[in-house]
Amino acid sequence: MIEFEALKANTIDEAVNILDDKEKEAKIVAGGTDLLVSIHNENEDLKELNYLLDISSVKGLDIIEDNEDYLKLGALCTHSEIIDSVLINEKFPILRKAAQTIGSTQIRNRGTVGGNINNSSPAADLITPLIALGATVVLHSSSGKRELPLSEFITGPYENNRKENEILTAVKIPYLPTDYYNNYQKVKRRQAVAIARINLAVLTDIEDNKFKDIRIAFGSATPTAIRFSEIEKELENKNINDIDYDEIKEKTGQEMVNITGERWSTPYKKPVVGNLLKRALQEIIKEVQ
Ligand SMILES: Cc1cc2nc3c(=O)[nH]c(=O)nc-3n(C[C@H](O)[C@H](O)[C@H](O)COP(=O)(O)OP(=O)(O)OC[C@H]3O[C@@H](n4cnc5c(N)ncnc54)[C@H](O)[C@@H]3O)c2cc1C
Repeated sequence: MIEFEALKANTIDEAVNILDDKEKEAKIVAGGTDLLVSIHNENEDLKELNYLLDISSVKGLDIIEDNEDYLKLGALCTHSEIIDSVLINEKFPILRKAAQTIGSTQIRNRGTVGGNINNSSPAADLITPLIALGATVVLHSSSGKRELPLSEFITGPYENNRKENEILTAVKIPYLPTDYYNNYQKVKRRQAVAIARINLAVLTDIEDNKFKDIRIAFGSATPTAIRFSEIEKELENKNINDIDYDEIKEKTGQEMVNITGERWSTPYKKPVVGNLLKRALQEIIKEVQ
């Protein structure tokens, strides 16, 4: 059994001072819905754990703030708070749709956006739409603050660029120039309380019946959630009534294989990514019409 001492911080300064002091021995806990499962399973990565630093009471980390060019989402915002936010529903309905698919009511009430990002699961439901939205993460340590794109923060399955003495305090999401069409798809093994086998976030403007600034991000298809830039190029400026779905499906599957190489899951995932994109595009086009 992993034994640890529980510590609590009420401010960012208190939290980063504890992280400096305890170094590798301390682990941050927010909602605990990922970490407590790992502790229960006596995960190898937690061998050096001696302290759990509870940040759930740190002031100012549960904000959803409207700024001139971007929305600032505090790291402690729960999935339920995202779902209930009028501002998020107005500006980024895709985030709401993704949050609604997460776990159960209990998990959505406790799980946070900061935890979802820092756990860095390839299947995390908020990461895929946040990648499509071009979000940036804000990290604080005793030496100051740094910001980097979420796409650079996540470096591999369950791996990221966070330094041990840093706390993720917020996510900045740039506003889209207009109300883009959006679609979120999630394939799971069963209907309820299930992690994504593959998820997909599509955002696009439509002008004169053509896709403009189309963004297509897949999660769990590749080691980290990423935008499929080749298929984006293929669809950009394409008339919505002039899509060869068989070609798009084949090229989407091929783009995945170009990134991952052939793996045990390829025979399943290759057709599924293409079919998911087809479904997302067709749902968007139905809305346009
Ligand atoms: C039954 C069940 C169902 C689930 N279903 C889904 C699902 O459908 N989709 C999905 O995406 N996830 C799902 N999850 C996973 C989990 O609920 C989410 O990833 C959640 O957002 C994690 O947030 P948390 O606050 O609970 O993280 P915690 O468990 O508190 O922390 C997770 C990790 O992030 C670190 N961390 C947390 N906050 C910070 C911070 N601010 N700065 C730095 N590091 C931090 C912790 O040290 C830890 O390593 C499920 C989990 C369970 C148990």
